[in-house]
Amino acid sequence: MPPTPRNRKAPPSKAQRRPRSLSLLDFRSPADGAWYGARVTVQRGALRVMYEEFLEEQDEWYDPAALAAASSSSAARDVAALRARFRTASLPLEDARCRDLRAGAPLCISCPLDDGLLKFYDAVLESVVPAAHGIVDGEERCACRFTVRWTDGPRAGSREEVGVERICCVQPSPVQDPVLIEFLDGVTKLLGDGNSGGATASQENGAVAAAEGGVTADAPPGFYRKFGARA
Ligand SMILES: [Zn+2]
Repeated sequence: MPPTPRNRKAPPSKAQRRPRSLSLLDFRSPADGAWYGARVTVQRGALRVMYEEFLEEQDEWYDPAALAAASSSSAARDVAALRARFRTASLPLEDARCRDLRAGAPLCISCPLDDGLLKFYDAVLESVVPAAHGIVDGEERCACRFTVRWTDGPRAGSREEVGVERICCVQPSPVQDPVLIEFLDGVTKLLGDGNSGGATASQENGAVAAAEGGVTADAPPGFYRKFGARA
């Protein structure tokens, strides 16, 4: 008896497989404005932001129907604001690379808070006091001191002197996560389609429906076509 043909089917190529997007990104939390490592996926049409090292209950969900339920101009603003919450993951400054930093470099710095938490906020490098590097266990250790000016967080506007261990470098490369980009571009496009198609009245109806809890029924059909039906 010939073997069943199940195993003869080639596995889908990488290009065909739907990306699950598990690349690590930086996400600026709407709750505290701090940056966290996070991954994203799309489930039941909604964007799920999963914080690294936090419980599932802390995940954030962004539903395209809810984003579109606002008036068209504020919906576009909301999507742009959501997009701006993501960036390529910042990288810890390597001890041996400290001389590469220049004044004005955008940094993300760990910020110990009064309640014992350690959060990351943005700052700009103002100056460096170089110091001779030591060698510990065969590895170069930076002893320089870096003066940074906080641009964000509870100490925004003030200066602080920090060591290499508190510094991450903000990466200039744009976010390349395919799942995130597809989601954001899809929502943006659908909002654009709505605006150009004279759908203002129905969008206003959608906003009313949202206020009454009926947004899923009145959401533009394009959302379902693009993102799939909600459970
Ligand atoms: Zn150094």
